[in-house]
Amino acid sequence: MDTRIAPQELARTLQSALVQGLIGSQDTGLIVYDLDRLRARLREACQAFPEGTLHALAVKANPLPKVLLLLAAVDPCIGAEVASLPELELALRAGFEPRRILFDSPAKTGAELRLALERGVNLNADGFQELERIHDLLAGLARQGVSPAGSIGLRVNPQVGAGAIAATSVAGHYSKFGVPVAEFRAEIIAAFGRHPWLTGLHAHVGSQGCSLEQLCAGARTLVDLAEEINDRSPGRVRLLDIGGGLPATYDAADPKPSISDYGVALRQSCPELWSGRYGLVTEFGRAVHANAAFAASRVEYVKVQSGVVTAVTHLGADLFLRKCYNPGDWHHDVLGVAADGRLKAGQAVAQTIAGPLCFQGDLPARDVPLPLLEQGDWVCFRDVGAYTLSMWSRYNSRQMPLVLGLSRKGGQLRFTVLRPRETVEQVLRFWD
Ligand SMILES: *Cc1c(COP(=O)(O)O)cnc(C)c1O
Repeated sequence: MDTRIAPQELARTLQSALVQGLIGSQDTGLIVYDLDRLRARLREACQAFPEGTLHALAVKANPLPKVLLLLAAVDPCIGAEVASLPELELALRAGFEPRRILFDSPAKTGAELRLALERGVNLNADGFQELERIHDLLAGLARQGVSPAGSIGLRVNPQVGAGAIAATSVAGHYSKFGVPVAEFRAEIIAAFGRHPWLTGLHAHVGSQGCSLEQLCAGARTLVDLAEEINDRSPGRVRLLDIGGGLPATYDAADPKPSISDYGVALRQSCPELWSGRYGLVTEFGRAVHANAAFAASRVEYVKVQSGVVTAVTHLGADLFLRKCYNPGDWHHDVLGVAADGRLKAGQAVAQTIAGPLCFQGDLPARDVPLPLLEQGDWVCFRDVGAYTLSMWSRYNSRQMPLVLGLSRKGGQLRFTVLRPRETVEQVLRFWD
């Protein structure tokens, strides 16, 4: 199975959901999540890394409870990376045991840290002040006879350089995250000397815009630091969390490495990770989720004016927040599908896809060559499985679309509802 959902397959899938009566007239937009593809990516991750690696998937990439349930059940090597109390709760309720959960956040309160320690989840501190706070909390818990089961690490900024997308690069000279290694190497080593409970190192290089070389350089920096600390106090650093950031392919003309490619490159640059001396954690989000889903929206109107053909649809900056606000940095392939679910054919004409929101920037695609769209057609966006629904914007209070899950049995396409279309009542309750 190809990592991405090909155009013909996408159209066949939409057609099948239409024929099976799963898409009502009120469903002006929907997302279809290919659960088989998701499982394939997870298996790939488990095989590409050393045995015992925990792949703590970033919940922020896709927090749908039914997807998290699948992730928690599919393999013990899959975990959850969380950065807020609700994300932590989502992970626990999906069935991730605390030892498979990793709590990262640059702004954890004392109460949140205490809860995380009591629950026994793993956590990464984002700086020195947080380490002192953890030190005090641990002393308090020790007086009550409680010793936390989770491991505690320190996030560093490996400073291997920014990637192609500024807003999602966190390993430049400056980052709001972690402790920069070049500037604070001695202080980091001293912190490990002071706090015997500190046993992990964490780095995350960025998201989407980072090359394999950058990701491997980030991991290499982490390994070098761990070896230096362990030279002074043998066995002190036991867990290395190399973060996520592996890009996904959104454009066939700009293919990205697979999870397996990453495993091979990492083994070459950081053989220590395969030595058994370290436990390994990854935090993939995009690389696992992005290619597994597509979105479809009905064309409500087509306007031909001022030399531009604009198809007005029902999914805009509410779903494609990054694309609409930062169009130069992001891309989704767009397809036209006829009302009956057949891929549209015919001469391609440059068209602009508009969303339903009340501002001019609400254009998830501009000047894309497509067969001429008509009222009632579907506009489909590929590779929407990560950082789309999870970043849903409440602007204009539109209802979140229907989300279907797809799996196959004996050549048949089977759908489940992962999330029904939001009701007006639910939106009103949000604002209450
Ligand atoms: C966002 C994030 C991830 C996931 O990034 P992807 O690009 O989706 O792999 C992992 N770790 C941390 C700390 C993050 O902030």
